Amino acid sequence: LTDRLQQAMGKLRKKGKVTEADVKEMMREIRLALLEADVNLKVVKEFTKSVRERAVGTEVLDSLSPAQQIVKIVNEELTKTLGSETVELEKNPKIPTVIMMVGLQGAGKTTFTGKLANHLKKTENARPLLIAGDVYRPAAIDQLKVLGQQLDVPVFDMGTEVSPVEIVRQGLEQAKEKKNDYVLIDTAGRLHVDEALMNELQEIKALAQPNEILLVVDAMTGQDAVNVAESFNQQLGITGVIITKLDGDTRGGAALSIRSITGAPIKFTGTGEKLTDLEVFHPDRMASRILGMGDMLTLIERAQQDYDEQKAEELAKKMKENSFDFNDFIEQLDQVMSMGPLEDLMKMIPGMNQMPGMENFKVDPKDIARKKAIVFSMTPAERENPDLLNPSRRRRIAAGSGNSVVEVNRMIKQFKEARTMMKKMSNGNFDMPGMDQMF
Ligand code: GDP
Ligand code: MG
Repeated sequence: LTDRLQQAMGKLRKKGKVTEADVKEMMREIRLALLEADVNLKVVKEFTKSVRERAVGTEVLDSLSPAQQIVKIVNEELTKTLGSETVELEKNPKIPTVIMMVGLQGAGKTTFTGKLANHLKKTENARPLLIAGDVYRPAAIDQLKVLGQQLDVPVFDMGTEVSPVEIVRQGLEQAKEKKNDYVLIDTAGRLHVDEALMNELQEIKALAQPNEILLVVDAMTGQDAVNVAESFNQQLGITGVIITKLDGDTRGGAALSIRSITGAPIKFTGTGEKLTDLEVFHPDRMASRILGMGDMLTLIERAQQDYDEQKAEELAKKMKENSFDFNDFIEQLDQVMSMGPLEDLMKMIPGMNQMPGMENFKVDPKDIARKKAIVFSMTPAERENPDLLNPSRRRRIAAGSGNSVVEVNRMIKQFKEARTMMKKMSNGNFDMPGMDQMF
């Protein structure tokens, strides 16, 4: 989806002026891109209609940079389709808040139950109780128990001989006794929506009066996910959607369609098999990501997990003032290396994935080591003030770090380019040639 939309956008970006024909052509591309991405036809129609209505208006044709305007409109409409606002979990005024997971077999309910318990523990210091309500497969109970052990969270189960409704009844009693603030009910799924399953879920719902009924859907099931969502919604009244497996080769269309068709907000996305692979869903960020504008905010958040804010602020200031020096450079290299696969991070930077050569972009640890060696051969004064680096100093550094002068020169040049680019970026200019040369 992203690739195609980007192509369409790219064509438009190069133009100074946009005619109605351009808008038409662009809308055709967007329509195709969405359909290819398995977005529901009804949703595609609505979406393109609202973009067209806004785009053909004078707003665009008379504006100074019409191409940008259209990109902006598409982005805004995508965000709207995805739900506009981040919607938090509903909470019960009195504990416990009861959350029930529903969905087809293999969608990721049990995994998400564990992820959510972890999330609640981390963000609110919560004390959840997990209820094992899938009695059809013994393995499902064990799976939840293992997750509970990993998280140090209690799991209530009564084996496979007792009805799910009874298990939930007793589980809720225990939660009240033990004053758990959340109860997460894991339920069974089937390969297809069927009546027996729905009846069971309706019974559990009637008994547990959940604050949330979260439908867990697998992003990779495309159109199917939409139909599944529709029937669960009709029969149970879902309050939120969890889209899992967004880390895979997904077409992203499910997210767009489901929100639009069910009206239920997407609350979280699953991005991997690990317990920490959970993200709070932000419609605006998802829209930007779909459009390939990158996801600066997620990137920044991820960086902040290991980075203290004060440092980040200092750095932003330095970038702006162009006083970023080699000491910062080293700190950045170390920082970036500790943040996980650099390639992944780079892709989140706006515009990054459109840069020539980006497909093959790989970070070579040896190259990073060489750059560090060069910096370590500089004097403190040189590190703070790269302008001091005259030819004789460069020769000394080359000899000291075991590199050729050519390599030292190249590294300094790249550093300076990167610095200029950072200055621009920190001033809101996301057009960044040379970024790939920085590391
Ligand atoms: P359930 O039948 O709905 O309870 O589904 P499970 O929680 O057992 O998940 C089915 C499979 O999908 C398991 O192998 C999980 O590890 C995997 N899975 C769940 N969520 C994600 C996700 O966000 N990304 C990836 N890659 N795999 C996931
Ligand atoms: Mg399960």
